[in-house]
Amino acid sequence: MKKLLENLEKILKNYYLCNNCLGRLFSQSLPEITNEEKGKIIRNFFTLMHEIGIVKIREENLSIALKKNFEKTVSKPKCFICENFFEEKINVFVENTIEKLRKTKFEKFLIETKLPKEILEREKIILKILEKNYGESIKDEINREIGKKVSEVLKKEIDKKNADIVVIVNLKINKTSVQFKSLYIFGKYKKIERGFPQLKAICPYCRGKGCLYCRGKGKLYPTSIEELIGNPLIKATQSKKAKFYASGEEDVNSLCLDWRPFVLELTKPKTREINLEEIRREINESKKIEVSDLKIVEKDFVKKVKTERSRKEYRIEIEFEEKVQNPEKIKVLSGKIIEQKLNNKIKKIKLLRVEIEKVEENIITLKLLAENELNIKNFITGKDTTPSIYQLTGKKPINILIDVIKIHSKL
Ligand SMILES: [Zn+2]
Ligand SMILES: [Zn+2]
Repeated sequence: MKKLLENLEKILKNYYLCNNCLGRLFSQSLPEITNEEKGKIIRNFFTLMHEIGIVKIREENLSIALKKNFEKTVSKPKCFICENFFEEKINVFVENTIEKLRKTKFEKFLIETKLPKEILEREKIILKILEKNYGESIKDEINREIGKKVSEVLKKEIDKKNADIVVIVNLKINKTSVQFKSLYIFGKYKKIERGFPQLKAICPYCRGKGCLYCRGKGKLYPTSIEELIGNPLIKATQSKKAKFYASGEEDVNSLCLDWRPFVLELTKPKTREINLEEIRREINESKKIEVSDLKIVEKDFVKKVKTERSRKEYRIEIEFEEKVQNPEKIKVLSGKIIEQKLNNKIKKIKLLRVEIEKVEENIITLKLLAENELNIKNFITGKDTTPSIYQLTGKKPINILIDVIKIHSKL
């Protein structure tokens, strides 16, 4: 207690703080009292102690009543942390936010403040002197205070988890902007029919507008995993569009017989209340793919899904132009590291196991376990890949059928 008062005295002796910034140091206790009120209480207490002569604080920090004389002679002091944001600037941001939101259709919102790092550094200096942190960050207070005022005027709810829109209050450039919050759906899929890609293949000639080459469809395949999953969800949430992210991909002609994790990002959804069990059934009725584990997630799942490294098992049927002599030699690839060029970078993937399942004339069926996703087609033909099946056998593959049979994912 004594130490805390000493530290507070040290702060008030060296820096002028406004009521919000002073009260915020103790925002965790008595949350029903605003930071501004708490600041006034502390200021009055220290003013009294100062008058009695027990402590000594800066004149600017004394309560209004006592610093009248002082105010006549000196211009208004600036708060060390916020530079009087709460007193002088916050209402401009509130008005600007209200004006922007009046033009926007939404139900629930959220305020997100971006601060110049100098403010955060000055806040740190004060917290270091106080030694203990009983408060919250200035960011939290600005978010809450602007949110509260906007919510009162527009009669809209603040909702951290389910906001449709986020208002970015950027104090670095003194501007506000409105962002529609995407909705992210996580799930896993199996591909049980051949002949369509994972991502919608837009026609390269007309870029989706429709031309002779694509027969007016604008795309190269009638459907894709992206569309089979995305379309029902776009419809159910009345979103503008969707973006599909997955942990690796399989070929147009491949099956994926184990669950592959994905995230679908729905842009500008009108509603976030959806029955995912119903959607799951609708998608599975396609009989082309199956989905499971659908759930609403946060944005960070996109990165999790995209960067997960997990073991994959493949079954590969290769038809060669002619019979391969001594096919057993393919097994020497077990334990080897494969180097594949991908976007001008060399990716190294270890083959943990290579087995020969069947040899029939010039068709060889392999089972392969790799420590991570691998471009199997290139591994067979030798394109951008070394070592490869072609390198090893010297025979040209003319037909390749690849199925993903196991994905060791932790998601
Ligand atoms: Zn302040
Ligand atoms: Zn076209």
